[in-house]
Amino acid sequence: MKVLVTGATGLVGQAVQRVVAENPAEGEEWIFVSSKDADLTDGEATEALFQKHKPTHVIHLAAMVGGLFRNMKYPVDLLRNNLHINDNVLYNSYKTGVKKCVSCLSTCIFPDKTTYPINETMLHKGPPHPSNFGFSYAKRMIDIENRAFNKQYGCQFTSVIPTNVFGPHDNFNLQDGHVMPGLINKIFIAKRDGTPFTVWGTGAARRQFIYSYDLAKLIIWVMREYEEIDPIILSVPEEAEISIKELAEMVIEAMEFKGEVLYDTTKSDGQLKKTADNAKLKGYLPDFKFSNMKDAVKETVQWFVNNQDIARK
Ligand code: NDP
Repeated sequence: MKVLVTGATGLVGQAVQRVVAENPAEGEEWIFVSSKDADLTDGEATEALFQKHKPTHVIHLAAMVGGLFRNMKYPVDLLRNNLHINDNVLYNSYKTGVKKCVSCLSTCIFPDKTTYPINETMLHKGPPHPSNFGFSYAKRMIDIENRAFNKQYGCQFTSVIPTNVFGPHDNFNLQDGHVMPGLINKIFIAKRDGTPFTVWGTGAARRQFIYSYDLAKLIIWVMREYEEIDPIILSVPEEAEISIKELAEMVIEAMEFKGEVLYDTTKSDGQLKKTADNAKLKGYLPDFKFSNMKDAVKETVQWFVNNQDIARK
């Protein structure tokens, strides 16, 4: 088994690298690549990468990603770059005879108007939230391509649907990053400068968060064991959903921040909730133990504080 991992320098990719290094399996060779190895928006570069490595399995993580504000500002870039990246990876996986390709969707691409909790069958049942429609439609096309490649050529291409991921190596940039790394970086700055810490929005929005190392273990399990073409939600249970306010309080505690905390209610909350149902995952892996959220937040904060020179911010 020769596994090619795209997007291996990112938040999820770094976690996959660590999990593989900690639990090496016999008969598996792993190749980790980033945009430095090939720009996957470029068809020829992608073909050259697949011809060079000739993988038998692919974990496709590479994507142009961003939080709410980047999604609202650059819908064309998020749509076109992701369409190209995904089509190039899936087409070249087919052309080089890859046995299995596991790609990454996201719970944020589900229909805006839906019932909760969302499950895998609801992915295409209505338009996504207007704030991230470009990214969402590009991601949804992975599932369409997976089905098409399976129908026409019998390819075993599938996808996973993570909820909000966090952990070391995240993007801590205040404009482009997701909510958790944004909060961590803002508190870091507030602590350093002795200024108030401002949370964007009311703090009422609710989210499920999965630690990148838990997600990496689950993605590797999907690559080795999961046989369906249909996607699978990789999420903590519904009961583990928390408000952004609760999350902010967790980060404040982890960073021992004692200053003033403000909520900028002129900023958008985004989707108020998007609770995901992890029943399918639980059916396959009833005994999987998710990390303790507070410990995982502490580890992430520690990584950010100790890695100021390499952290994306
Ligand atoms: P990151 O932004 O941390 O990493 C993105 C990775 O993609 C990097 O390795 C980057 O390489 C690579 N990449 C970006 N553009 C290109 C390109 N044109 N050609 C080749 N490689 C490229 O992303 P995450 O780790 O957070 O996300 C991984 C996957 O998980 C994505 O598909 C994402 O949609 C999905 N996901 C993420 C969630 C989250 O909360 N983070 C939630 C749900 C799903 P380089 O370092 O060289 O730029």
